[in-house]
This record gives sequence, C-alpha cells and structure tokens, in this order.
Amino acid sequence: MSTVGRKLSVAGVRRPPTGRRPGAIVAAADPGAEGAKITRPAEVAPESSSGDLRAPDLVGLSPAPAVAGLIDHAVRMGASDLFFSCCENHVAVSVRHLGIVRLITVLTIEHGRRCTSYVKAMAGMDLAEQRRPLDGRWVREDDTFVFGDDAGAGSDAAAAPAVDHDDDDTGIDPDEPEVEWPELRRPGPVRTGAGRVDLRVSTIPTLHGEDMAIRLLLGTPEVTSLDQLGMSPRELGAFRAMLGIAGGLIVVCGPTGSGKTTTLYAGLRYLNTGERKIHTIEDPVEYAIPGLRQSQVNLKAEVGFPELLRSVLRQAPDVILIGEIRDAITAEIAIRAANSGHLVLASLHAPSAPGAVQSLLGLGVNPYFLSGALQGIVAQRLVRTLCPSCKGSFELDEMPRTFEEVSDSLEPGEGRALFGATGCPACLGTGYSGRTGVFEVMKMNRDLRGLIAASRPTAELREAAARTGLLDLRRAALLLVARGCTTAEEVLRAIPPEDLGLDG
Ligand SMILES: [Zn+2]
Repeated sequence: MSTVGRKLSVAGVRRPPTGRRPGAIVAAADPGAEGAKITRPAEVAPESSSGDLRAPDLVGLSPAPAVAGLIDHAVRMGASDLFFSCCENHVAVSVRHLGIVRLITVLTIEHGRRCTSYVKAMAGMDLAEQRRPLDGRWVREDDTFVFGDDAGAGSDAAAAPAVDHDDDDTGIDPDEPEVEWPELRRPGPVRTGAGRVDLRVSTIPTLHGEDMAIRLLLGTPEVTSLDQLGMSPRELGAFRAMLGIAGGLIVVCGPTGSGKTTTLYAGLRYLNTGERKIHTIEDPVEYAIPGLRQSQVNLKAEVGFPELLRSVLRQAPDVILIGEIRDAITAEIAIRAANSGHLVLASLHAPSAPGAVQSLLGLGVNPYFLSGALQGIVAQRLVRTLCPSCKGSFELDEMPRTFEEVSDSLEPGEGRALFGATGCPACLGTGYSGRTGVFEVMKMNRDLRGLIAASRPTAELREAAARTGLLDLRRAALLLVARGCTTAEEVLRAIPPEDLGLDG
C-alpha cells in the first residue's frame, strides 16, 4: 500500500473521526504531529458546532402546521428525504442531509400518527389502509407560512396556510379519543417559504406502526452543467470527447445515490442544443426538462426498459438515455442501438469503470459488439465538501510527500495543507456544506477495445487503463483531499476501502 493510502486508512479506520480537530487526520497518521500548528478561521468558535439540525418546536401544533414546519425545515436545510419512523414509544422524524440520515425531532405516538395520516390524506392515499405499503404524491404549492404570535398580523404575513385544506379532521382515527389540539402556540414567529415542493410519499407497515418516507423534489431544479460536476479538467475533457461522438455507448456507474443521474443529465444538458432528438427512458421521470422527450417505465402496464427502448428506437432519436441497464435484453438493444449510430447514455450498477465491462459481459452481451459500441465509462461516488466558512487547515511542512501520488494533477499551492471539518451555523454544525462527485473516467482506446473483445479480466483492463493515465477513484479522492474540497475521513466514510484499493 502506498504511503498516502496508508495514511488514508490509518486516519479513517484506526482512529474515530474527531470532527472538530482539523489536524486529526495527520495526527492520527503521525503522532509526532500532535502539537503542530492548526489554523482555524478566527470567527468560528470551536464550540459553535452544535449547529441546528433540530426541527422547530412542534409541541401543541395540529398536523397541518406541524407537517408544514417539518417539510419547510427539511427543504431549507437542503434535505432530500423526510422520514417518520415508528418506535415503541415515539415517532422519530429524521431527514437525509448530504446523504446522511439525521434525527431532527421526536413526536409522541399520537402526534406522529396524526402527522403521517395528514400527509397520506394530502397525497391521496387510503387512510384506512395501514397494513399494506402505499405510494402517493403531494405537490405542495406553499409560498409563506407563518408560525407564532404574529401569525396573520404582519402585512406580508398573510399567512397563507401551508395547504388550502382544512385540517381539523384530516387523518384522525374516529376510534381514537378526541384530543384537543390547540391552535398555533409557539414561542416566537418562524416564517418559512419552501415554495413548490413535489413530495413522493410511501408508507410501509413496521413492527411498531406505519413508517413513512417522503422524497422531496423541489420545483424546477437547474440541471447541473458538466463543469459543475466536480471533474478535474482532464476527466472533464475526456467526458466531453465521449459526448461529442455521434454514435456509441457511454456508461455511468456506481451504487445507488452516487450521483449517476446528475452526471447523465449534465451530459444531456450539454447535448440538448435543439439540434438533436433526445429521448429518455426513466424509472420514474423525476423532473421534466424542456427539449427532452421523456418516457417513464410502467411495470404495472408491462412497459419496462426493453419495451420502451424498442419503441423509442422507432422514434428516430439521435440520443437515448436509459435510466438503468438492469437486464440482458436492455443491454443487448442498447449496444445494438449504439452500434447503429445512436448515442446511448446509460447508468449501470458497477463498482468501477473496468468493473462495469465485467458487469455488462455478465449480462450476456457479445464482447465483440460491446467493444465496438463502448465509448467510455464514468464510475463515480459522492463525498461531502467542506464548509468554506469554517474549514480548518493543517500545514504539511513536515510531510511534503503526503500527496506525492497525485502531484502531477495538483496546481501550484495545492497539496501543502490538510483541511478538516469544524462546524458552524452556516453548515448546521456538520462542517460540510455540499457534495461533489469523485470520478474515474475511462475513455476507450484500441488496447482497451482489444481486451474487451477478448473478454479479458477486470485487472487487465485496469492495468491498461492505468497506462493511459486513468485517475482511479482512490487517486481522484486523494486529489479532492489535497485541494481542500473534502477530508480523508469523509472519503473513507463514503467509499468502501475495497473500492479505494485499500483492502490489500
Ligand atoms: Zn461551517
């Protein structure tokens, strides 16, 4: 294992992340560095990191304002999901924030049940059904909701209720004893304005009651552009070159939640100039994007990826996006389409770029046709990025070789310090304020095509790709650490050691 690989593993595995000590990564790797100089932004007090992930106080609120408060809180903190989990004596309410589940409040069983019933009612779900999993959708067009003593008093605080419906009876089990829910009673005003939120609601019966998961999709999101993905210039150039080819297959791979869809849409945005006919096949269509023809898989109507793909090909598209290649037939049609002059973009569950070739061959595709169709593979993961307001730095004067492995890719001034998460109000005390992709971009060349056509093992593909300068996931992650975008701890949290090549 390389020096830096060892440092990464030592920092993250043998010592628990400290969160508040920027020097901890190096200190863990080198005890001699304990007393070294740590620089922290002056305005951030070390103890200010409690942050505020907690939801506003909901005690005494009826379901409509309570749910509005929770949704608005989740939206404002940038959460992707809101969860109600039934426990023995309470209902835990949590969010997924930057990919991590965090508890935001705890409700009594009764209060929690009223809130979930209210959401079910708004999402058009069967209130009486609690023993079967259900799905629903609620588009919430809220502008402003004002809690507290001045609710309705302010001029612009017309306090349009979070929803138009009268909530008094919604979702209340008729068999339950009548409980009086006081009207808005809060210590102070809280004004929220989450705007249009599309909520995809699903419930499932669990040991202690009905759990609810709510996916939060915001109004009309800006599709990420290629240069916002977080690729380094060389990788970005390779990805652009793949997209510039008239026909072929481009695969984006990684586990669920690794940002594959964002990358694919950034690719489509780049291609969506109005001069190409672009069709997408998605499961489900999450956002409508002008200029694209978007179709959705409907398994109930027996319209899956293969059926839709065959039909889309009759629509004379130039570019086709396949939400996911999961079966042999889809893989085969995709490769045939790519070999007949269409540009096909697809996502795939595979750990690495060389591993994706093996996954496709595992689906039974013809290696010769695959080698001809494939233009390139992007493997990716997501890591949280350090909060610019509070990140601390640790000078690496005594360890100049820390980032030697990626020194070729560093700009002058980069790689001289390690940065660490601190926590401030701006980042809700987490030390991280966003996420970025870690990319492995493997563009095809003659060597790689030959190896694929001969069904050679992944290790040989990896070696051949390395000879062309492939920045693998581990070095791509190391580069982000060297640039101060993220921490070694975060890399080890987000990417399993075997995917970083650290298990040897
Ligand atoms: Zn911060």
